[in-house]
Amino acid sequence: MLAMSHWATMRLVFLFLLISGHSLSVATEPANGRSDQPMRIVYIDAGHGGMNTGAVGVDGLREKDVSLDIATRMAKLLKKHTRYVTILSRTEDRFVGLRERTRQANQKGAELFVSIHVNSNPSPSRAGIEVYSLAAASHDEEAKAIVLREEGGFVESTQTIMPTSVMHGLRLAASQRISVPFGRLVLEELVASTGARNQGLRQASFAVLKEAMMPAVVAEVGYLSNVEEAEKLQDPAYRELIAEGLVSAVLKWESVVPIGSVQAAQAR
Ligand SMILES: [Zn+2]
Repeated sequence: MLAMSHWATMRLVFLFLLISGHSLSVATEPANGRSDQPMRIVYIDAGHGGMNTGAVGVDGLREKDVSLDIATRMAKLLKKHTRYVTILSRTEDRFVGLRERTRQANQKGAELFVSIHVNSNPSPSRAGIEVYSLAAASHDEEAKAIVLREEGGFVESTQTIMPTSVMHGLRLAASQRISVPFGRLVLEELVASTGARNQGLRQASFAVLKEAMMPAVVAEVGYLSNVEEAEKLQDPAYRELIAEGLVSAVLKWESVVPIGSVQAAQAR
């Protein structure tokens, strides 16, 4: 059961809606031939790509290939729901800058940002799924290590994002906070769908999340350094389960922030 009905979260959601200033031109694009229905844009980020391979599994499986396959599956599943529009950060094996991804999501008016990654750890026994939301700085060693492994050498700039206005600052802060309940939902749905070990909801200073103006998370969907999990991740049926879990979280988010509510708040 989601622990997101408490007042603090609702106040946060309310604040988020009030200050949301998305450019919503894409939101009303008729994906199904109808333009009168509010739509929700979901930005699906396939981690890594091109020269940025990401982790390489014990069986040679490459993170950039797994993330792209799961992202593609997720987009395909979500397209069956006519009120959703999906944007993929990449549809092929090519390099895309980390902040470029978030900027694109902001520019297109995405209301959710899901970055798909696969983990790796020096300990071969480590397995399971963890989900990250943004922290201003990575405080513990494990959070620092994962950011370094995921983004080391590929961050365009390590600069802190400086809000351009009070409103921008408020929106960044609200987006960061509302990412926590969204992340919890993503984690719960992934674990329910795959049966993988729940490694928890965490926070780390991921560059790819820093400029996000919407609930944004990094989902680490398994460990390529674990023999059993790497074997599962080779299996298209297992990747489909991961995609289903992600889609389920997106659909359930409607009960927290209904489709069209952001636009309605903006129009007031
Ligand atoms: Zn990664």
